[in-house]
Amino acid sequence: MVKILSTFGAALSLSLSLSVVLAHGHRGLEKRAAAAAKCSTVYKPVAAGAYPDLDCTPFVQAWLKLVDFSKVPVFPVSNDGACPTDLTTIPKDQCWWTCQKCDAPTDITNCPKTDTWGLTYDDGPSPDSPRLYDNLLAHNQTATLFIVGSRAISFPETLKRAYNEGHQIAIHTWSHPAMTSMSNEQIVAELKWTEKAIFDVIGVTPLYWRPPFGDVDNRVRNIATQLGFKTSIWTQGFDTDDWNIPAGTATTQSVVDTFKSWLTKIPTMSTGFIVLEHDLFPQEVDVSINGILPIAYATKGLVMEPIAQCLNDGKPYKEGAGTFKLLPGSNSTDTGNTTNGNGSKGTNAAAVATNPSTLITAASVIVAAVVALY
Ligand SMILES: [Zn+2]
Repeated sequence: MVKILSTFGAALSLSLSLSVVLAHGHRGLEKRAAAAAKCSTVYKPVAAGAYPDLDCTPFVQAWLKLVDFSKVPVFPVSNDGACPTDLTTIPKDQCWWTCQKCDAPTDITNCPKTDTWGLTYDDGPSPDSPRLYDNLLAHNQTATLFIVGSRAISFPETLKRAYNEGHQIAIHTWSHPAMTSMSNEQIVAELKWTEKAIFDVIGVTPLYWRPPFGDVDNRVRNIATQLGFKTSIWTQGFDTDDWNIPAGTATTQSVVDTFKSWLTKIPTMSTGFIVLEHDLFPQEVDVSINGILPIAYATKGLVMEPIAQCLNDGKPYKEGAGTFKLLPGSNSTDTGNTTNGNGSKGTNAAAVATNPSTLITAASVIVAAVVALY
């Protein structure tokens, strides 16, 4: 059934779609922190100084005036991001990533420079995030962290630590919905409440956001753009699938194998790439710090950077740089660059090899060593 946009209409359908939501593997997992969350389906303004219910689609407060809704293209609200059976019924100009694999020209989907990896982690902060931060810090490595607003409220000290250690903090919505399933007003609320939660914790306003599941179309993009946010996805085909380990449909080994398969592909690419990883569940952090990162650190020629660094953007926040330090020159040329995106002490700081075969050879050695661990 197609739902038509209305001010609060989609909110009213929330209870009807609850079983669909819970049946959606990743979405159900996202609700770990609030497994018994009962989300209100009637309009409930949030009291001054308070936040919306965690892991529930928030209601709009005072932000609607920031968007000119007459400029928002009209496309049907999806049913939890699910694609129609007949994909040809989707208008071409909807550019729906989930169902049309469509990247819009304004989407951030890769790093321009070859052999450059936009390192990102979604869904935190969580109780397992500090283990990831420890590993990154030990290698003088920073990343882009797409923060769920509800988790920012649950674990503010962890978010503060991430910010203080120079990671690029970005937005990943309040309750982690499929954004095409939200009404225009709910899209505003998901983004702005997350922005507020992050600002309240670390004092800066992120300019980058990532739609959960990559679920975005030109309606969602338009609203995000009007609010000043840059839509960031990941390079098609560069999903580690780590989120499927806690879901039970992938293994640590299969995720490492997926990552290994990229090492031969990367040197043949005309650009760098952005990878999807997560730090919500222990298995996701485990596969990163024990499987993927050790290989990456030791792979000569491979440079890992936060997205803002690989785009040479020194101001990832409305307020400017914050704690983010843009390293000069790392994006200036395609070869012969000796700076990795995180300083110069990490083991991949020697990532200066420009010969693709060097990258492959070095990686192969490490792959063999690491795989032996599993
Ligand atoms: Zn996510």
